[in-house]
Amino acid sequence: VWENCLKVIRTQIAEQTYTTWFDPIKPLKLVDKVLTIQVPSRFFYEWLEEHYVHLLRKAIDASLGTEGRLEYTIIMEKQEKPYLPNHNSPQFVQNNDNHTKPQNSAPAQQKNYSNNNYNNVNNSPNTPKKTSQFNQTFQINPRYTFESFIEGDCNRLARSAGLAVAQKPGVTSFNPLMLYGGVGLGKTHLVQAIGNYVQENGQKKILYVSSDRFTNQFIEALKNNDLQSFTDYYMQADVLAIDDVQFLSGKEKTQEIFFNIFNHLHQSGKQIIMTSDCPPKELKGLQERLLSRFKWGLTADLKQPDLETRIAIIHKILQSEDNKNIEISGKVVEYLAHSIDSNVRELEGAIVSIIAKASLNQSPITMELAKQTVQQIVQPVDSSEINIDEVQKYVGDYFGVSVEMLKSKTRKKEIVIARQIAMYFAKEYTGFSLKSIGYHFGGRDHSTVIHAIQTVNDMMSEKKELKMYIDDLRKKFSK
Ligand code: ADP
Ligand code: MG
Repeated sequence: VWENCLKVIRTQIAEQTYTTWFDPIKPLKLVDKVLTIQVPSRFFYEWLEEHYVHLLRKAIDASLGTEGRLEYTIIMEKQEKPYLPNHNSPQFVQNNDNHTKPQNSAPAQQKNYSNNNYNNVNNSPNTPKKTSQFNQTFQINPRYTFESFIEGDCNRLARSAGLAVAQKPGVTSFNPLMLYGGVGLGKTHLVQAIGNYVQENGQKKILYVSSDRFTNQFIEALKNNDLQSFTDYYMQADVLAIDDVQFLSGKEKTQEIFFNIFNHLHQSGKQIIMTSDCPPKELKGLQERLLSRFKWGLTADLKQPDLETRIAIIHKILQSEDNKNIEISGKVVEYLAHSIDSNVRELEGAIVSIIAKASLNQSPITMELAKQTVQQIVQPVDSSEINIDEVQKYVGDYFGVSVEMLKSKTRKKEIVIARQIAMYFAKEYTGFSLKSIGYHFGGRDHSTVIHAIQTVNDMMSEKKELKMYIDDLRKKFSK
């Protein structure tokens, strides 16, 4: 059966790829249409899953039918590391006369290294060499472009620095370019937009890698006693983008090799781009010498998108090819933009899920549907956080005022006070912007919210009774 699969696979990919990724696979058993194959490592398995899952499916379909399944076993990975680079050896990668430095953008495989520093420790003759492992370029998502990246105050500097770097890699003073920001704020999108731009506009070689993958490859290279291919691969980059460098934290050896690659590329005028979930100075567990390099260029942050940017992002999603025929009212868009304001990924997720639900039920996108979905998606960041509906309900119940009344235009004194207190707690507990809080209180503007919070603060110092109420409410909330 596996032979048949291989026949199918062979016709679909290059000989070289076939040898690297399919020759080493051993078929183990076939039980009830479940074919088990053995692969040399976890990395290998992940690579197959990521790059060849469709091809494998096709091959299985052809030889076992559509009920056929594939299972992997991974050869037990060695516990101890077979080789570690020598900490005290400054010639590890650079500054070594014996070491032939890679020429600018010369093809890696033509290089001839006379130095065997990489392999001289614990060089086991039994370890097979897998030199072709790093000849693959990594996938950059073609959707992540500058065109599809919405610009706003929250990301203007990062975006324009990114564009400058994409247009003139290695030439601007933004080298390295360090982009940081919380999850789902567009770091990967932006860095891959640079990658797509470079790929489309010129001859430069861009390599994109996540820090996790970089680490895994490094470990794999150590295991295979083939650090050479690993460093060769990265040193051929004109632009190296390494995503989420916070994951290098505590990984001393990986940092060391990255430091060497970094220095080499930087000295040869190559562009380096990095992303991180926090500013460099807060990166714990990264060596000082590496951190100091990060400060050479430009550091730019991505902040939470403001309301206008969020609305623009929603419209962008709705304009995409897949969603062309979706109808959604301005009111629902506004509601979504106001309700999910911390994270673009969450916003996207909400919209995708609303569209999916509507099309499954063959029903239009209603406000009701939007509300349900948002409530499922927007989980409080930590358990102490309370959502705005809860705040309104608690405060309303406490003062015997309905939520409708809180949102209404009524200026009756008791209601105004309850409403102001609810706004005050909304600010304290929900993490919503003033604008969004106003929106959820019957479409009031943010100055009304500011006024409410101020009034409550003033009243607390002037009226003992009111302070009691508020303390009491706060206790209830904290439960
Ligand atoms: P991060 O890497 O910072 O966690 P991502 O780049 O993965 O975030 O972004 C999460 C999602 O949000 C992606 O689908 C991305 O396309 C989208 N996104 C983020 N920022 C923007 C933006 N400014 N314009 C359009 N889409 C964005
Ligand atoms: Mg990312």
